[in-house]
Amino acid sequence: MNDFIMRGVTKDGFIKAAAMHSVKTVEEARRIHRTLPLATAALGRTLTAAGLMGDELKEDDGSVTLQVRGDGPLGAITAVSDSSGNVRGYLQNPAAELPLRPNGKLDVGGGVGRGTLTVIKDIGAREPFSGKVELLSGEIAEDIAYYYYASEQIPTVCALGVLVDKDQSVRQAGGYIIQLMPGAPDGLVTILEERVRETPSITAMMEQGMSAADVLRYMLDGMGFVELYSHDVRYECKCSRQKVEQAILSIGREELKRLYEEEETVRVTCQFCDKEYVFDKAEIGRMLLSVEP
Ligand code: ZN
Repeated sequence: MNDFIMRGVTKDGFIKAAAMHSVKTVEEARRIHRTLPLATAALGRTLTAAGLMGDELKEDDGSVTLQVRGDGPLGAITAVSDSSGNVRGYLQNPAAELPLRPNGKLDVGGGVGRGTLTVIKDIGAREPFSGKVELLSGEIAEDIAYYYYASEQIPTVCALGVLVDKDQSVRQAGGYIIQLMPGAPDGLVTILEERVRETPSITAMMEQGMSAADVLRYMLDGMGFVELYSHDVRYECKCSRQKVEQAILSIGREELKRLYEEEETVRVTCQFCDKEYVFDKAEIGRMLLSVEP
């Protein structure tokens, strides 16, 4: 099964919701960054959240960036989604490890630590929108829900899960976001909260053979949920030689001159996909000439 995002609303318009099935996406992130299980889970949850939030944008050239800045051993986590929910990301310490929790689960909250979550929504022409909240738990899902509540005043239920297999590959990964629209009756919040309490974790339900979309359908069963669309998503980096060249040019003439004089080749590795771009002396010289003195 390809990864996908499914989105819908309830007939009364009080609930909007989306689910992302992200097994291949998170496995690709693991492969690129060679993450150990704790980092696989933390980065995978953040990528899934970013995909769900990016897919919600209406602007074709929009993007959502999540920056998790905690003081735990994992270090900073960055995830970016385009407006179709295709994601890319990286984290500072892919090999960070912590003992499992007493319940046998990976200690993502401990790995992330205390700090902040910043959400940047870039919607093309207009100035990017940015909101920042303290991390509640570092478990990511709770932090995303808190971000929506504190920064956008939208009551939100969020679940994110990554199950790592014995061979460290990604066995299950997915998530959903359920949001209440203005005017939603108070009773609806209570019903949703009860469902969340009574429902096993998203990865436990996926282990039963459900997709992330099935889990969302189950959560909203009996509430008049109508699916609007479903489409494939994947791990996708947008880097190019041209963009890297622009980044090199942005260091300024002096620094570029130093590079030209001191280096035979300049190597730049993309943080998101690990692709290496190599520029030889002649190219750096040409770039130096293109910058006005
Ligand atoms: Zn790249």
